[in-house]
Amino acid sequence: MNTKPRTGLEILKAPGTTAGEIAALLETGHPPFEEGDVQCDLVDCKDCWLAWLTTGKVPAPKYKPIR
Ligand SMILES: [Zn+2]
Repeated sequence: MNTKPRTGLEILKAPGTTAGEIAALLETGHPPFEEGDVQCDLVDCKDCWLAWLTTGKVPAPKYKPIR
């Protein structure tokens, strides 16, 4: 087991997190969820970030998939 922070907020607020690491996160335009795929077409991206910041987990889909 390591002591890696779980939520995005913890990652951003961790003393060891560098500006370069934060820039790398923001560059993708997407939160780096540790597990699961982000379904950006099924949620608002604000919800992606909010879920990552508060839980670190992928948000539940908000919309139905368009086929
Ligand atoms: Zn998104």
